[in-house]
Amino acid sequence: MSRIDAHIHFEGEHEEFVRQLEAWELKLLNTIGGVEDPGWRERRAVPYARLARTQPQRFAWITSFDLPGFGDPEYAERAIEGLRRDFEAGAVGCKIWKTYGMGLRDPEGRHVLVDHPILEPIVSFVERSGKTLLMHIAEPQGCWQPLGPDNQYSGFYEKHPDKYMHGRPEMPSHAELIASRDRVVERHPKLRVVGAHLGSLEYDATELARRFERYPNFAVDTSGLARAADLGKQDRARVRRLFEDFPDRILFGSDQHATAEDAASPEGRRTALERIRAGHAAAFAYYETDRVLELRGRSIQGLALPDAILKGLYLENARRWYPGL
Ligand SMILES: [Zn+2]
Repeated sequence: MSRIDAHIHFEGEHEEFVRQLEAWELKLLNTIGGVEDPGWRERRAVPYARLARTQPQRFAWITSFDLPGFGDPEYAERAIEGLRRDFEAGAVGCKIWKTYGMGLRDPEGRHVLVDHPILEPIVSFVERSGKTLLMHIAEPQGCWQPLGPDNQYSGFYEKHPDKYMHGRPEMPSHAELIASRDRVVERHPKLRVVGAHLGSLEYDATELARRFERYPNFAVDTSGLARAADLGKQDRARVRRLFEDFPDRILFGSDQHATAEDAASPEGRRTALERIRAGHAAAFAYYETDRVLELRGRSIQGLALPDAILKGLYLENARRWYPGL
């Protein structure tokens, strides 16, 4: 079965990778991660654009733009110029990264949420260009909840306390961040928006269904396995119904990665491919079979989605939401 992984970070360039992707009938949509790193263009955008140009059957990419320069009157213009160039170079969308509402502040110290006026001309440009906005806003709800056995993200936040938002009243809540994202979706009805990581609504299929009903211009990607475990915690029939009721709104994505260092040695390439294969196999088993799977320390029964829905999930929805893919 042909599939598109609509959310991945694959910088590795090597013909072995291309051959394997071909054998797997897989195409990868590379998305820029954080833009806090001023080298994101060099390190991410350049290889992504090159892969999409040289191997268009196997790779496509989504660009991004620099963080706001408050007090820089040409900030929006420059960001738009960069996007225009990247769209011309084949980028199928633009990604906005979670720093909005999770750390970024204006010169007066106020939180900058994603519906901030400084981003408005940039978002409007994406809309006018007929490109798609991939929004990674907020994090799983577990980021704002107590740690412990019920919170599958505990291990991560124990290791990264700076990213953990529970007990930090000075930071925006999960609900405030989701509301800021919703406002952008609502304000731009002609803009196609894909919410990364199940739109950070991984904890409740009904919340997702509500967004899909309210916003015909909103879809989500499934990246990655942890979010499948979040779906697996919910009533299985309810989750299945989400896929059935909105067969054209959910795109498969794995959020896996392969780096230039991985590409540099036979061992690195082997490990990267093995990692991606294993991640995909676990996700495919969840969506395709009714087997009981061990995911993130939980026993979860697969959804056994019908073929027509799988075809949407793996292929057609990515093409619909990212024209040109
Ligand atoms: Zn990602």
